[in-house]
Amino acid sequence: MQYRRLPQDGTEISIIGMGTSCLHHTDADEIEKTICLAIENGINYFDTVVTKAREFEAMANVFAKNRDKVYLQQHFGAMYPGDGKYGWTRDLSVIKDTFQRQLRLLGTDYTDFGFVHCIDEKEDFENVMKNGLWDYMKGLKNGGIIRHLGCSTHNPEILRRFLDTGLIDMAMFSINPAYDYAVGKFEHALGDSQSRSRIYAECEAAGVGLSVMKVLGGGQLLDARSPFGQTLTKNQCIQYALDRPAVLTVLPGVTSRKTLKEILEYISAEESEKDYTIIENLHIKPEEARCVYCNHCQPCPKGIDIGMLNKYYDLALVGDRLAFGHYKKQEIKADACISCGHCEKQCPFHVKQMQRMHEIAAYFKES
Ligand code: SF4
Ligand code: SF4
Repeated sequence: MQYRRLPQDGTEISIIGMGTSCLHHTDADEIEKTICLAIENGINYFDTVVTKAREFEAMANVFAKNRDKVYLQQHFGAMYPGDGKYGWTRDLSVIKDTFQRQLRLLGTDYTDFGFVHCIDEKEDFENVMKNGLWDYMKGLKNGGIIRHLGCSTHNPEILRRFLDTGLIDMAMFSINPAYDYAVGKFEHALGDSQSRSRIYAECEAAGVGLSVMKVLGGGQLLDARSPFGQTLTKNQCIQYALDRPAVLTVLPGVTSRKTLKEILEYISAEESEKDYTIIENLHIKPEEARCVYCNHCQPCPKGIDIGMLNKYYDLALVGDRLAFGHYKKQEIKADACISCGHCEKQCPFHVKQMQRMHEIAAYFKES
């Protein structure tokens, strides 16, 4: 397993996390074994929204026994009323009761990541800021009961509003190539491709990490519903998400040990199996060719890390001061480019990389 650090305090988070919302039809024994297997394989980051209260209880039993080995992402607004099926609410008293009950089940007195649950509308954001929920959560943060504040959303504009509070450390956002490029064709794909790529960079600039939901597009990218000329693999989708700025972990939903093992294959997969440049076959293309940092254009005869320099440049453009430092530390910079054209011929996305290298060199020279 590999780990990435949360910028705020260096918390080490496994790049593969686990979503639990797909644990339908899984009995308590299998839930326990699946989570134990995840922990044994180095997964330490878990989203805790499940589809039924029964599953939450089964899951909580395992986390309670392994509290020091896991980071939990808990949602304020997810609830399990009456029949115990998942629902969501903005009712503060219900949210408070649900959270306290979940802490009891988890045998703990704190959560690692407390997220405002699923806000996609401006009115909903404003409501949460005024109705006491955000104040309640800030109070828990001040009291050490929430270690890190965050939110879950599918909308870049809502994520920006949370960034503007200056109080979040982490957010859960839906990321996959189809959402980034084929916006409007899929449920939950909000914002155009530019605003989506920009918000990833803004999160990185703000030192806010992203955990990724819908990394497989709800399975659509793996089968005939794929918007590409052909299907993608799990490894390609995971790599795509992990290559976006600010992303610390992906949270594919698993249903059992079997599906968990399929996800874990990513860790030992060859680079060629993770290569997602097939997305060039997407029927709907972004407005202009844009570097996705895949480094499919290597080798550069001058040894330039083309993908990395492009990422630092994009980050610097949205004000990430750290990106300047990272760029300056690169041994081989954009001004080493001799315009040989190799990368442009190789790039499946048709990025005008020679021109881009001149642009990058000029930008960092002047700044
Ligand atoms: S120029 Fe093309 S191939 Fe090279 S890193 Fe960017 S997108 Fe990938
Ligand atoms: S054009 Fe520049 S960046 Fe691209 S391969 Fe040639 S030297 Fe490297």
